[in-house]
Amino acid sequence: MLRPLIALAVTTSLASAAGAATIYPLDRATILAQSPFDLKVEFDKVVTPDQVTVTINGKPAEEVLGKKVEFVEKEDGVDASAILIRAASIAQPGTYEIEAKAGDETKSVKWEVFGTSATPRAKNVIFLLGDGLSVAHRTGARIMSKGMTEGKANGRLNMDDLDHMAFIGTSSTNAIATDSANTMSAYMTGHKTAVNALGVYADRTKPSQDDPKVETIAEALRRTGKKSIGVVSTAEIEDATPAAVVSHTRSRGDKADIVGMFLQTQPEIILGGGSAYFLPQSTAGSKRKDDTDYIAKFRDAGYALAIDKTELEAAAKTNTGKILGLFHTGNMDVTLDRDFLKKGTVETFPNQPGLVEMTNVALGELSKNPEGFFLMVEGASVDKMSHPMDWERSMVEVIEFDKAVGVAMEFAKTHPDTMIVVTGDHTHSVSIVGTIDDSKPGPDMRDKVGVYADAGFPNYEDKNNDGYPDSVDVSRRLAIFGASFPDYYETFRPKLDGPFVPAVQNESKQYVANEKYKDVPGAVLRIGNLPKSADTAVHAVDDVVLQATGPGAEGFKGYMEESDVYKVLADALGLAPATN
Ligand SMILES: [Zn+2]
Repeated sequence: MLRPLIALAVTTSLASAAGAATIYPLDRATILAQSPFDLKVEFDKVVTPDQVTVTINGKPAEEVLGKKVEFVEKEDGVDASAILIRAASIAQPGTYEIEAKAGDETKSVKWEVFGTSATPRAKNVIFLLGDGLSVAHRTGARIMSKGMTEGKANGRLNMDDLDHMAFIGTSSTNAIATDSANTMSAYMTGHKTAVNALGVYADRTKPSQDDPKVETIAEALRRTGKKSIGVVSTAEIEDATPAAVVSHTRSRGDKADIVGMFLQTQPEIILGGGSAYFLPQSTAGSKRKDDTDYIAKFRDAGYALAIDKTELEAAAKTNTGKILGLFHTGNMDVTLDRDFLKKGTVETFPNQPGLVEMTNVALGELSKNPEGFFLMVEGASVDKMSHPMDWERSMVEVIEFDKAVGVAMEFAKTHPDTMIVVTGDHTHSVSIVGTIDDSKPGPDMRDKVGVYADAGFPNYEDKNNDGYPDSVDVSRRLAIFGASFPDYYETFRPKLDGPFVPAVQNESKQYVANEKYKDVPGAVLRIGNLPKSADTAVHAVDDVVLQATGPGAEGFKGYMEESDVYKVLADALGLAPATN
């Protein structure tokens, strides 16, 4: 067995030594038939056009794709040549081998072009994404919301009852680790990409918006039919996850430009935070660097506008078919602050809708289209509260997210032609290890951590039956810890005075434990295990659990890459029926 392995290793290293060029889409790309994408070959040195040949299954690429090749002798800031074929597409499903040569440089990659069912299997798709949703988040939300007796859960989360399941790999093209841009982009385009990239392969040139593009699900829906599109998030609407539905940029930080990309695709429903990037720079609170008033542009495009819960309800009654709801200049407040503690920025934005209300309005509007719809709903702050290890806030966000899942499931009862997908985009290294019991003796909070039999059960209550624990600050609560962290003070307690800020920057720009929590009784200093440039916990590389139901959902099973998820969505929606 050893011999063939060695032979294979030698072949691989020889091949990569000879072929220094890079071809986008990358090797093993899966491409929706008929969908436009940019083909780019980056050569390793300056070459002349007559030295270059690019073939697809042995025929000139120009001929196969029916598009002109752009030759770039010297790429911007790079001492090497490249060729580009913009907005190419391949009609017939199959395996395609692409070979690029320039002098002694050669490179070949294989693509799989896939078709879909001739007739769509689902009329509607509701894709619910809990950002950073990990297994411990689900367990914690279930225990806090439903309770547990003698080891059995007293109730189930809505997502617990979705009948199909898969494990999803979330790694990016340039690292095993990942962020919300490349992960959601893979779900929404079928192509994996690099950290921070949306709807493009990350090329070597500096500009963020010239990289080879791939089609987003929103563009595919616009190209192939008349379905409505909805994007709902508790984050800034230009944040990575919602942006991935419509955007093309190497840099998720291009938020001002991403607003323009939303206007280009015009999803019928856009609900979330992030109004700062819609306002011209002259307006107080604007984060734009130009005078473009995107609020006015969206109004001109026929959108009803809403800036709080009351206006959202009113906008839903105007029947314009298009709603732009921007309820915060930045990220919206989390449920624990919005509905219970009134901390965070709730004083400034007192009337924000929650994810449940936004999902309800979105479904009410989108379902008016007889052609059906695609709706993306993001529970963004599961992640945003897991970074600072504010576990109570993140768990309550999961409960809210699950209630939005419930809204979708209720809708599907009367609209059985609806596929529901519930997943995360990456995980956090969060784990529940037992309980923290204040009644245990001694001043040391560590001694109050109960593990194994000593953990017993937490004593959260939900007397008013709203699905949320009446208080997260109970005397025997979940012991939730993270495995990646900067220096910080572990207080073993919920953060009742507002979201946790574990670390702050010192004069040498390193993150050190936030002294604000030093004197919390029993707090212990945990020396970080991350570089001192890290201000919070980081994403984990662990698989994500995806669950789904409805027509086409049986396509989700076993282990899948995020890019494979798009194949199931495309198939359910019939985005590439066979052509003859
Ligand atoms: Zn994150």
